[in-house]
This record gives sequence, C-alpha cells and structure tokens, in this order.
Amino acid sequence: MVDLQAQYNRLKPEIDSEIAKVIEQSAFINGPAVKTFQSKLEKYLNVKHVIPCANGTDALQVALMALGLKEGDEIITSTFTFIATVEVIALLKLTPVLVDVDLDTFMLIPEQVEAAITDKTKAIIPVHLFGQGADMNQLMSIADKHQLKIVEDAAQAIGSNYQFNNQIQKLGTIGDVGCTSFFPSKNLGCFGDGGACFTNNDELAAQMRMIINHGSEKKYFHKIIGINSRLDTVQAAILNVKLKELNDFNTRRRRAADFYDGALKDHPEIIIPARTQICTHTFHQYTLRIKNGKRDDLQAHLKDQGIPSMVYYPVPLHQQEAFEQFLKKTPNLPNAVLLSKEVLSLPMHTELTNEKLTFITDAILAFFE
Ligand SMILES: *Cc1c(COP(=O)(O)O)cnc(C)c1O
Repeated sequence: MVDLQAQYNRLKPEIDSEIAKVIEQSAFINGPAVKTFQSKLEKYLNVKHVIPCANGTDALQVALMALGLKEGDEIITSTFTFIATVEVIALLKLTPVLVDVDLDTFMLIPEQVEAAITDKTKAIIPVHLFGQGADMNQLMSIADKHQLKIVEDAAQAIGSNYQFNNQIQKLGTIGDVGCTSFFPSKNLGCFGDGGACFTNNDELAAQMRMIINHGSEKKYFHKIIGINSRLDTVQAAILNVKLKELNDFNTRRRRAADFYDGALKDHPEIIIPARTQICTHTFHQYTLRIKNGKRDDLQAHLKDQGIPSMVYYPVPLHQQEAFEQFLKKTPNLPNAVLLSKEVLSLPMHTELTNEKLTFITDAILAFFE
C-alpha cells in the first residue's frame, strides 16, 4: 500500500545526517530539532501555535482535554473514520454522537450534524477523511450559531488547502484546534509515532502545552492533571527533512490519483473519489466505491496478482462493539454502512511509477471483463 523504503532511499543522506546529529548531541527529549520543527510547521501551516506530541490519538485527546469539558458533554463526529477520533471522546467520559457521511465525499453531513445538537453538545470533530476537507464553511457557521468548539481531525489531510470564506487556509487551522498524526504511512510521516495540535488561540495553546507536559509550565509545579506526550527529538529531526518535501509528496500522490482517475473513471461499476472545488485533495488514500457487491471479489482478484488493497473502514464506528455502551442510542446511518461494503483503497504513496499504476489499473479492469 505504501513504499516507505523507496522514499527513504531518495532522502537518505540528509535524513541519516540529521539522525546522527541528534545522537551526537544526545538531546533525545525536547531537543533543538523539536523547537525547529514546531516553528517550521507553524510557518508552513500559517498558524500561530503548533504543539508537537507523541501521536495523533494523543493530539485529539489533548485538544479535547484543553476545552475544559465535563463528563457527559456531547461531541458530534463522523461514524466513518479511524477509531481514534471517537476512542478519545469515550476515554474522557464524554458522549460521542455519531452522524452519517455524504456518499460522494465521505464527509460529515452538516444538516445531520445540526439536527444532532442538544443542550449538552459542546463540540464537533470534522474528520478530513482520505486527504480532502469536510464542509468547514457550513460546519463553522453551525458551530458559531450554537456556540460549539471545532476540533479538526486532520490526521489524513496535512497540506490540503481549503477555501474558507474566500481565503485559502490549510486544513487543521480553521477550527479552534487542528490535530494531525505523523504515523509513518501518513502524508507527512516520521519513523515511528508522532503527532501535533495546531491553534491560533493563545489560551488553548498554553493549556495544551501544559497538558502534554504533566500539567506543568514549570518543572515539578503541576497546575492540572496532564499526560506525558512528547514528539521524540529523532522523529522531529526526520520530520524537519520531510516537511520540506511535503508539497512534492502531495503532488506525487495527486499525480498517481490522476492516473487512477483516468483509467477507471468510465467503468460503470466503479465510482472514483469525488474531488470538491473548495479543497485540494492530498490523497492520503485513493478510495474507490465498487458497485453490485463485487468489492470483496475484486480485492481477492488483486491479491492473487500480488496487488495490495485495503478496506478503510469495514465497520462504521456506530456498529463497533467497543462503543455499544458509550452511544446514547445506536443510530441508523445507512450511508456509512453502504460505504463499508463498497469502499476499496488502492496503493497510494509518493513512489508510484506509471508502470506500477498501469499494472494495478489493468488488473482492476481485467476483473470486470
Ligand atoms: C491516523 C489517524 C489518527 C491517529 O493517529 P495516530 O498517530 O495513529 O495515533 C486519528 N484520526 C485519523 C482519521 C487517522 O487517520
């Protein structure tokens, strides 16, 4: 699905030398590369504060902790996402309220978000799934109207440009807090776990900095209960090299997506991923919908040819056993259920050659013949 090795080989001299520097300095925790990465990412995203942390799941947890919510407060988010988005809500004893997604874009349906608001609702978590943006224009105005916070889950969409109120902004910098992950296979991936929160709000930034550092601003003086969640210096050093390449990485992904689109767009049983006018798609995943119940057979056919493919996600979160006791009621969310039976993500990374892409698309088309 990804080719991290080929990407590393292209960047090897610079990455190796940056890692060696960290080891020589032996400043493994909060070393200089972390501060450098923080300010470089602030500049790249055009956001006031970046708070690096240990992984994307922690980033979401830290963002919710910083909002000062209380047990039972309701958080509205998508049922069609990676478990982390909803896991942290339940962990903090908040109540997840799961809403359906649009069949074409896989994003939260704003009208259904608004319909799910009660007097306990405190925040919305839009998930920018697969590299494209949720409808931030509508979601921000709903949040404004009902005085709700917005925490953007931008783990799959770092670098995507969104046209918000006629101004281009990076996804993750529009709501109160944005969260991302540097898991190796993400668009900006390190060599282990990593994550970050972003915000333009000084108070929230101070709060999040405290939370990731055991609730303290000054060593051994603890104001609140926090956690230990840091981005390793070695990972920051790797990310400093890779951040310079992020726009190129995303261009390479888009080029592969264009190839897939061209080869597959006219097939009656394949729906290619929709691209909205308002947001650049950075294709964390290239996800098809396969009609007429043929998805699993196609996947088996590709596997026989040595072509990997993945189902993101086979079970919507409102149907997961883990959430049974946390949901107010099990909702009826037919779009997500249908998508879980139709979606198929193809290999997507920065090193896909035309030769590989041709092999993959030929194998897909051959299946339908
Ligand atoms: C990857 C991912 C996360 C979690 O990131 P980790 O770094 O793996 O903890 C959260 N939300 C979404 C949508 C993701 O894809």
